[in-house]
Amino acid sequence: MRIGVAALLAGILVVLHPVANAQKNNKEARQEERREERLEGIRRDLQESTDRVALRMRKGFNREPLINGYINALGQKLIPPDAPSDLKLSFRVIEATEPNAFALADGRIYITTGMIAFAENEAQLAAVLGHEIGHVTREHLVNSIYRQRYGKVATATKIAGTALGILSRGNKNSGAEDLTTIGVGLFSALTGARYAREQEKEADRVGLERALALGLDPAEAGKLWDKMYQRFGEPSSVMALFSGHPTHSKRGELVREVVSTDLALAREVAERAGPLQLGSASFSRLTSVVRRDSGIQMAELLDRYDLALEGLEAVLSVRPDDAKLLWAIGRIHNLTERPTGDSSLALQFLQRAAETDKRGLFPAIHRDLGYAYATSAEDFPKAVESLQAYVDGYIRKHGTYPPDLETIYDYMGLFGNSDWNAPGFPNENTQISLSHRSYTAPAWQTPGGATVEGSESFLREAYEVARKDQQQGAAGSE
Ligand SMILES: [Zn+2]
Repeated sequence: MRIGVAALLAGILVVLHPVANAQKNNKEARQEERREERLEGIRRDLQESTDRVALRMRKGFNREPLINGYINALGQKLIPPDAPSDLKLSFRVIEATEPNAFALADGRIYITTGMIAFAENEAQLAAVLGHEIGHVTREHLVNSIYRQRYGKVATATKIAGTALGILSRGNKNSGAEDLTTIGVGLFSALTGARYAREQEKEADRVGLERALALGLDPAEAGKLWDKMYQRFGEPSSVMALFSGHPTHSKRGELVREVVSTDLALAREVAERAGPLQLGSASFSRLTSVVRRDSGIQMAELLDRYDLALEGLEAVLSVRPDDAKLLWAIGRIHNLTERPTGDSSLALQFLQRAAETDKRGLFPAIHRDLGYAYATSAEDFPKAVESLQAYVDGYIRKHGTYPPDLETIYDYMGLFGNSDWNAPGFPNENTQISLSHRSYTAPAWQTPGGATVEGSESFLREAYEVARKDQQQGAAGSE
């Protein structure tokens, strides 16, 4: 009896099942079609604003071919093999001190010079780029907006309205065109107005899975975010553009979670092929200019001397003869070091910088060295010598006098050399003949304190003519 009922039921099920399935399949197909239409609509809505942000981004492009080439090559390697083949991802470097990276929905990925400088190795850079690749290939922004627009939670719909509202009126303040003034609202709306925790994890998973396949150590990702938290704390107004991602302390945590769970197997497989790596050794060389310049900005624009020095000293092993680098380190020491007898690091670095600048590209090294001699070593003869070298070097490089010549004259007086005059500088004896008239240059701001006549620009112009006449005369007599 029981068997009979069971058999009967089974029979009914066998009969009913295909019909139910067909209805269900139809319904699912319709839903899928509607979903795809809606997603298409969101992609269309996004495109114009995305293009607009990308256009503004151009103003911040770093134009150095080497670093752009390196970052793009690394990014292309990190694209997962299952990414749609018609999806074109590009990786460009943006000039900005804040360590940051972000992706526009259609695959344009940007990383700041600050982030390149902050990363300690290729594995860390790869983790950052891979994460953004994950957001793009999994269409996180489009999906977020979809959920907000058509999801069941009422408040979420409201958020969607706000985000899309920002998108459609994003072009109002057209005066503000650089990265920092794009407007955090518009910016984060386009780069992923607060990705969901699951999306963040998925982005890490996609990025690190590929990094693992390339033999890169995913543990570096956690180290990067921990260091970010140590150095900068949580994103503040300076780092407000980070707002789309979780806080710095959370990011390290999330990454470690993904590595120890979802990627445990992939990690094991990768480790079987050999020990995991920090990446190509070329990283240090190819990123060194960006790391140097970023360190200089860190010091000059943000007064973050700790970070600046850390970064610059790391570059020193790759560029031991880089005058600009030695100069920057010397300047920081000059500002921050405490008196330590006669072993001033500032003087040591500035001296090395001056010696290393064989082409005379940075005459101001000698000026800073002169000031350091006067203030920290109280060595005035050396100070005079360096200030002279500065003025000579400036004239050689620019063909004119340095704009702070007046200050130099003042200081020369203080340092006990008030008779010194810049080479060829006009005084009461200088005869300058112009084609249309003869002009006797008055003493102009000489340390003796003579009268001043004629504008500086006229004097310079007159002087240039005289100098050329002289040169032609010299050439003619040969
Ligand atoms: Zn993210």
